[in-house]
Amino acid sequence: MNHNELNGESFDVVVAGGGNAALCAAVTAARAGARVAILEAAPRHMRGGNSRHTRNIRTMHVAPTDVLVEAYAEDEYFDDLMRVTGGVTDERLARMVIAQSGAAVRWLGNQGLRFQPALGGTLSLARTNAHFLGGGKALVNVLYRAAEAAGVRVFYDAPVTGLDIDGSRFQAATVGGSGAAPARIEGRALVVAAGGFEANIDWLREYWGAAADNFLIRGTPYNRGEVLRLLLDADAARIGDPKQCHAVAIDGRAPKFDGGIVTRVDAVPFGIVVNRNAGRFYDEGEDFWPKRYAIWGRLVAAQPDQIGHVIIDAKPVGRFIPPVFPPVMADRIGELATRLGLDPIVLQETVSAFNRSCQPGEFDHNVLDDCRTEGLAPAKTHWARPIDTPPFRAYSLRPGITFTYLGVKVDATARMQMADGHPSDNIFAAGEIMAGNLLGKGYLAGIGMTIGAVFGRIAGREAAARARN
Ligand SMILES: Cc1cc2nc3c(=O)[nH]c(=O)nc-3n(C[C@H](O)[C@H](O)[C@H](O)COP(=O)(O)OP(=O)(O)OC[C@H]3O[C@@H](n4cnc5c(N)ncnc54)[C@H](O)[C@@H]3O)c2cc1C
Repeated sequence: MNHNELNGESFDVVVAGGGNAALCAAVTAARAGARVAILEAAPRHMRGGNSRHTRNIRTMHVAPTDVLVEAYAEDEYFDDLMRVTGGVTDERLARMVIAQSGAAVRWLGNQGLRFQPALGGTLSLARTNAHFLGGGKALVNVLYRAAEAAGVRVFYDAPVTGLDIDGSRFQAATVGGSGAAPARIEGRALVVAAGGFEANIDWLREYWGAAADNFLIRGTPYNRGEVLRLLLDADAARIGDPKQCHAVAIDGRAPKFDGGIVTRVDAVPFGIVVNRNAGRFYDEGEDFWPKRYAIWGRLVAAQPDQIGHVIIDAKPVGRFIPPVFPPVMADRIGELATRLGLDPIVLQETVSAFNRSCQPGEFDHNVLDDCRTEGLAPAKTHWARPIDTPPFRAYSLRPGITFTYLGVKVDATARMQMADGHPSDNIFAAGEIMAGNLLGKGYLAGIGMTIGAVFGRIAGREAAARARN
């Protein structure tokens, strides 16, 4: 549907965005009897934002389910979140999201989404995360079908470029897309679920400087933070440090946008990582990879030219999911260095020093094993084995930005708060645009979708109720 047909139209609930959070909100609001419009910036074939790249959702459960083993209690989930965020989270909202995570997953299943057990690999999530059969694309397709069946009108190529907000009351959105004349759409309530600003390099540069030019954006190019900026300019209460984000180390050959999950490099715990000067800079074996993968984007971002290279030998091949790009290979370290554009003598020295410092131990990548270095700075504290078995392999790493944490502050009813401390009259927020309420820093794999699904459903319910009054 073309958004020009919309000009002058009025809805009960206008939803800005077209990913998981937006869809959960739209379906819920429509089922509550509201007339709902989804305004999705992307064209139809690119719909679904970062949600279409996802694989799983983290959920508490008190007993094994058909796709999750053992139990994952509310308190353990909460403790995990406290640990990764260093306590920088809204504890009340965090507990609420966790407590409602099981119901959200069941609701997704009721829309027709199927789940599957986790595959083995470096991210051992079989107990904590329910995996979508068919991935995030399947989730997005299921939810769009549910939205259309519930009578939601979906508009593609419909970026929200303006918001008419009177005090704290939403009146109308302006939509302007692909050279078409802008359209004005009125609404009795607004749900904002339009993602973070991760795809807006200019905005990232404000905090990261020129380094931002070397960042690769793992997801949709449409999350440019336009709606977030409009809300902050309209005196919404902001939450989150603008420099905090989820950033992983991805293959340097990945495309600038939308490379998705296949570009992630999971080989780090099995080798060493060096920078442009062929020197190591961090403990590659500090903790299990699911608890550490999300720090490596920032670590690489802090290196000269924002580049790193993970070096492994033949031993770990087959123990991690290989990225989509083949490794650079050579039979000698010096040769590998030349292929990577590194100084061969320095890399040879770095590898030799590492090899000499490796202590005898029993290698087991499923536990925090006793294979560690002695007398090396920085140390490698687990899974340290000499790199001595050719052919040697390397993957070059760049910071891959997943999503940013700066957002709008909300309460437990998903209602956006204003900078003066009052709640907004009729604006609700869900997903990445408010994830900073829970994620002050750090990340817990699968919680992005939990936040979107739980807050999306709340926002839809509350917006529909607000529209009725
Ligand atoms: C490669 C990758 C893998 C991931 N894997 C997982 C995973 O397995 N589990 C997990 O929990 N999380 C994962 N995440 C994070 C997860 O994608 C997000 O936390 C989640 O999708 C956020 O949902 P959302 O609806 O808020 O945002 P999105 O799904 O990104 O949706 C935002 C929507 O807003 C639209 N939009 C943007 N600007 C405008 C505008 N001005 N007007 C109208 N619409 C606009 C976009 O087009 C998009 O449709 C992954 C992310 C990436 C990039």
